[in-house]
Amino acid sequence: MKKILLPFGALAMIASACSNNDKKATAVDDGAAAMSADSLSKNIGILASDDFMGRKPFTEGETRTVEYLKEKYIGAGLEPGNGGSYIQEVPMVSISTKAAPAMKVSSPTGDFSLKGFDDYVIWTDRTEAEQKLDAADLVYAGYGVVAPEYNWNDYAGLDVKGKVVLVRVNDPGFHSKTASLFKGDTMTYYGRWTYKFEEAARQGARGCLIIHDEAGSSYPFSVVQNNWNGTRLRLDNRGKTEALCDVIGWLTTPAANKLLAAAGKDSTLLAMSDKAGFKGESLGLKLTTTIDVSTVYKKSTNVIGRITGSKHPDEVIIYTAHWDHLGIGKPDETGDSIYNGALDNASGTAGLLELARAFKKSSYPPERTIVFLAVTAEEQGLWGSAYYAQNPVYPLDKTLADINMDGLPWYGKTKDIIVIGRGQNDLEDYLKEAAASEGRVVAFEAKPQAGFYYRSDHFNFAKVGVPAIFTSAGTEVIDGADGAGKAAEEEYNEKHYHRPSDQYNPAAWKLDGALSDLTLFYKIGRKLDAATTFPGWKTGSEFKAIREKK
Ligand SMILES: [Zn+2]
Repeated sequence: MKKILLPFGALAMIASACSNNDKKATAVDDGAAAMSADSLSKNIGILASDDFMGRKPFTEGETRTVEYLKEKYIGAGLEPGNGGSYIQEVPMVSISTKAAPAMKVSSPTGDFSLKGFDDYVIWTDRTEAEQKLDAADLVYAGYGVVAPEYNWNDYAGLDVKGKVVLVRVNDPGFHSKTASLFKGDTMTYYGRWTYKFEEAARQGARGCLIIHDEAGSSYPFSVVQNNWNGTRLRLDNRGKTEALCDVIGWLTTPAANKLLAAAGKDSTLLAMSDKAGFKGESLGLKLTTTIDVSTVYKKSTNVIGRITGSKHPDEVIIYTAHWDHLGIGKPDETGDSIYNGALDNASGTAGLLELARAFKKSSYPPERTIVFLAVTAEEQGLWGSAYYAQNPVYPLDKTLADINMDGLPWYGKTKDIIVIGRGQNDLEDYLKEAAASEGRVVAFEAKPQAGFYYRSDHFNFAKVGVPAIFTSAGTEVIDGADGAGKAAEEEYNEKHYHRPSDQYNPAAWKLDGALSDLTLFYKIGRKLDAATTFPGWKTGSEFKAIREKK
């Protein structure tokens, strides 16, 4: 080591910089230490109790949940996050559709019809009383993808205005099993059904039908049949311009093959669309059907609190968790009809309260503003977070990150923590660093083709360019047998996911794992708070260009 003589002033500066950094370092420890398994347990227990009636939006369960969270935010010392209020109202519309029982298909060789529910399921996001396809032309548009970062445009040179597009589910990387195409078997947002409908609408198509296949969508057609035959929620976008198709839906593979045969084609056309440069084409078929629509307008609530940053109050770090669940519904075999949603997502919501206390109790108050956002209507389509992302209280270009919690670990401490959506943004590296500091490691999801990155609230932040991270419970249980983590997860998915039995059992849940993950989320927040640069999206991420435009 070289000795350098410094003037007295310079020494003083170094000393004060050190003490500031020391303070920040201590803050990480004392903030994290303020979180406790006891209060986490207490809050999960209350939010998941029968008194909260399954926390369904628009019900008494919502009123109780929102009141409780407000009270807890105030108790934790959070300031109101939306002007003078802890509430952000989320206006929504509930759309009920009744589709005609069949769809008439006119082809050069004769007419036939497809049977609703068995062959296809359709619905609409539009709120006008009736939607129809009136001999609308059908165009095959490959994957229906426009992805500049992958040099891919299924709509190039294709006129789909006023027509119905037929597209494949997932993306070319998955179906062609080519690692170098898109992200190989990791689903990109271009593979997700919501994207297909959005893009078709942007292209001016009147309708969009996705060809279902179980591998590509990762669920059987019955899931589509169950989810899309009734009432759906959306944001109330009256007065806003929004591109929407008139009719959207899914076809079974056999029904799609029937259409292709009527057009004198077969499934080789589908395989051809795996290749770059594929050109879609009109199938020479015309579709006719109708949907009756009725609507009810309703309001739900995001609960929002904040700690104003001491140095950069206009720069924001957001933690999210959805407070809602499924309410009271069909009883299970024991007669229980309250869907308590203990793991999904009383646990994440309670985690939000722990993090609020950690930042508040820390000896070094955050320099940037920390926002705690409990969002509504995740279960019905991620609507609370969508509303926030479209109507942000804090400018999105000054929002550094969203850290989302949807289900915390319940089976004890694990060596690993699992990142959903590998390689998206720098927050993954922040998590790795935080994990390493706790003697833990980052692992990645086992089924990247299922597109879980697009299935919880952080995704709405990604969609508007804000780097967002979402994790799930690790599987390597430290004090457990080999495979204990996997077994616990499988048991939950089979027996308790979206059932009345997703209940809190303080004797069986081991919350040290949840606390350990919360410590990592807190450390990521502290790193973001102290950082001199904003985190970014990685090359190849479909959200990079959106951020860079801002
Ligand atoms: Zn959830």
